[in-house]
Amino acid sequence: MKAVKIMKPNDLRVIDMEKPVIDEKHNVLVKIRAAGICGSDVGIYHGKNAAATYPRVIGHEMVGDIVEVGQNGSKYQVGDRVIIDQVTSCGQCYACRKGRPNVCANLQVRGVHIDGGYREYMAVPESDCYRLPDFLSYEDAVMIEPTTIAVQACSRAQMEFDDQVLIIGAGALGSSILRIAKLYHPRRIIMADIEEGKLREAISHGADYAINSRTEDVAARAHELTEGYGPTVVIDAACLKGSFLTACRCAGNGGRVITMGFGVEPDDMNQFVITSKELDVRGSRLQNRKFQTVIDLIHQGQIDLSGSISHRFYFQDAKKAFDFNDTHDPSIRKIVLTFD
Ligand code: MN
Repeated sequence: MKAVKIMKPNDLRVIDMEKPVIDEKHNVLVKIRAAGICGSDVGIYHGKNAAATYPRVIGHEMVGDIVEVGQNGSKYQVGDRVIIDQVTSCGQCYACRKGRPNVCANLQVRGVHIDGGYREYMAVPESDCYRLPDFLSYEDAVMIEPTTIAVQACSRAQMEFDDQVLIIGAGALGSSILRIAKLYHPRRIIMADIEEGKLREAISHGADYAINSRTEDVAARAHELTEGYGPTVVIDAACLKGSFLTACRCAGNGGRVITMGFGVEPDDMNQFVITSKELDVRGSRLQNRKFQTVIDLIHQGQIDLSGSISHRFYFQDAKKAFDFNDTHDPSIRKIVLTFD
């Protein structure tokens, strides 16, 4: 079978690979039908993901059909359409015992630490598969994974109706978080970004206010928009140098600040900004078994993932797809790789 492998940073190849076989643990064989390109895949390709190891078959947003099940049977049948969880964990460490496999001490993320979804077949444990709604296309179903990341962020923030929410960054991640945050019916949702176009889009998708962080003081404006209190939930979906401090400055007393970035450049932080307001600063990494939550929301009609895919490439043209993504063409929303 064919696979897309990053041999070393900036060296992407379509290679021949042994088709996986199922065993007792990896008891279902999935024929991949669509796989999304995510910022982190781009980071691994360009050598900007410190967690990744090479060579690596990348891709962690993967959907397909079950084409074989183990001889001990399965809750799935051949022909079932599924999405595969990217998180694999040891089940033994403190985090796993606390029900947080996404920060397992021995975490192995598909497409990052172990081979991922840019290949024709994957053998995985059935417990890592989630059944897709019949009406959802393979391509749209790819969007379930980025949505789980947004669900994780809102859940880490313990968002509720009484909150005033600020999302810093209105790109793919920020707009996904906006979509989920709205389901909590918070008092208001404010989006901050440096690009007017993205802010206009955020408003059209239901944000109450927009702050242009290029021209406005985000903390001052966020306080104004929340009757002087400050947002009680601030999610940093920009993850840039300086955005963490901004998030903490924005947050109101007793608020929660959620970080999602992997940047290692120090922010000019101080304890006062956290202690004086007794902020809860929490990381949100990957997702903690949130696939079923998102699939349930789709079934309930609470979220609609259609219309998010902007471009499609055959998976063996992955190089073209990544090169196109690097142009940062404004028409790019989500690029998917297709397999037939
Ligand atoms: Mn992703």
